[in-house]
Amino acid sequence: MTNPGTMTTPTILEATAKVEQKVIELRHHLHRHPELSFQEEQTAALVQRELALLPLSDLTPGVYGTGVTALLQGNGSDPRTILLRADMDALPIQEDTGLPFSSEVPGVMHACGHDGHTAILLGAAMVLSELRAHLPGSVKLVFQPAEETEGGAEGMIREGVLENPHVDAAVGLHLWGSVPRGVVEYRSGPLMAAPDVFSIRVIGKGGHAALPHQCIDPVPMAAAIIQQFQTLIARRVDPLESVVLSVCRLEAGTAFNVIPDEVLLEGTVRTLNQEVREAIPGMIEDVLRQVTGIHGGSYHLDYSFRYPPLVNDPAITDLVRKAAEDVLGADRVRKAKQPNMGGEDFAYFARAVPSSFFYLGIAPSEEDLVRHHHPTFRIDDTVLKDGIAVLCRSVFDFFASPLAE
Ligand SMILES: [Zn+2]
Ligand SMILES: [Zn+2]
Repeated sequence: MTNPGTMTTPTILEATAKVEQKVIELRHHLHRHPELSFQEEQTAALVQRELALLPLSDLTPGVYGTGVTALLQGNGSDPRTILLRADMDALPIQEDTGLPFSSEVPGVMHACGHDGHTAILLGAAMVLSELRAHLPGSVKLVFQPAEETEGGAEGMIREGVLENPHVDAAVGLHLWGSVPRGVVEYRSGPLMAAPDVFSIRVIGKGGHAALPHQCIDPVPMAAAIIQQFQTLIARRVDPLESVVLSVCRLEAGTAFNVIPDEVLLEGTVRTLNQEVREAIPGMIEDVLRQVTGIHGGSYHLDYSFRYPPLVNDPAITDLVRKAAEDVLGADRVRKAKQPNMGGEDFAYFARAVPSSFFYLGIAPSEEDLVRHHHPTFRIDDTVLKDGIAVLCRSVFDFFASPLAE
C-alpha cells in the first residue's frame, strides 16, 4: 500500500501531459457536435466509449436521461469516496467564432464551456486511472445532463448518485470568462445565487380606453407593482444581503385604445441566502395583494424555486485552493472577490455533501473578458490540462486529509 502523501505533483503533471493532446481533440469533437439539455445522446455515448477504455467499475449510462456515472476504485485502504462532476449540455445559440472546429449543428453551440468541462473530467479519469495504485479511496465520476435548463444534478441525486458507495465530498469547476487564462478563483461560503423565477398575471377588467371608470385597468397596477418591487428589496431586505429582483418581461394589451383585461409580468429573483430566498415570495405577494386591492383588481402568482444557492464548504475549498497552488503556483490562484448572482446546479451537490466549486479562467487578459452564452464565446485549450491537474491533486489531497472522518 502506498501513502497518498507520496503522490507528487510532478507525477500528476507528467500523467496529465500524456493525455493533454487527446483531451484537446475530445473537446474539439464535442464542440463540433453540441447537444441541448437532455438531448446529450452522442455526448454521453462518447463519454461512455472513453470511460470503457479505463479500469472503472459501475459504468452506468442513462442516469436521469443522458447522465453517465462510473466509479474508480482505489487500493481500498480508505473507505471514502469523492465525486467529480462535469456538465455536458450546450445552448440554443448560432456560433460565430470562425474556429476550424465550430459547431456543425445549426443554432446550437457550446457557448458556456461545458464541452471543456466534459473533456477535463475525461482527462482526470484517465490520469487517476493511470495512478490508481496510489489512490487509497474511490472516485465517482459524474457527467450530468441539462445544467442550463432543468438542473440535471438534482435528478441524478434523486436517482442515487450520492450513494453506492456513499459520497463524502464533491468537487466541480467552471471555465470562466471573467478570470484570466489559467488562473483559479475559489471562494468559501456562497459562490453563486439561487436563480428563482416568477410569473404574475395582474388581473383587471378591460374596456374602452376613454371609459376607464367602467374598467379595472391592469396597466397602472402593473406599473405600481414594478415600482414597489424595487422599494421592497431596498426597504425590507437586510442591506448586507444580496438580492436581485428583475422584471424582464411585460406583456399588455393589443391596441392603443383598448384597456386590456390582464398584464403579464415575468422575471427572476437571485439570492445567496436560503432564509432570505424563502422570504421573498411572501413579500412579493404582499405587494400584489395591496396594489391590486387598491385598484379593485386581483392577481395570480406562479413562483418557482429553481437551483439553491451554491455554498462552498470551507474545508473542501481550502483543500482545492492548496491543490491549485501546488499545481499552478500561488500567483495563479486567488480568492473570488465576491459571489455572483448567476445560478449553477452544482449547488444541489454542494447542498448534499461538503463540496467546492471553483472557476478556471479563460479570459485572454484581465481586461479582455470572454462572454458566456454569446456566439463568440471561446475557450483557450491550454487551460484544460490545468483543470485536470487541479482536480487530480485535489483527489489525492482529499484522501491525505482527515476531512469527514
Ligand atoms: Zn451557462
Ligand atoms: Zn455553465
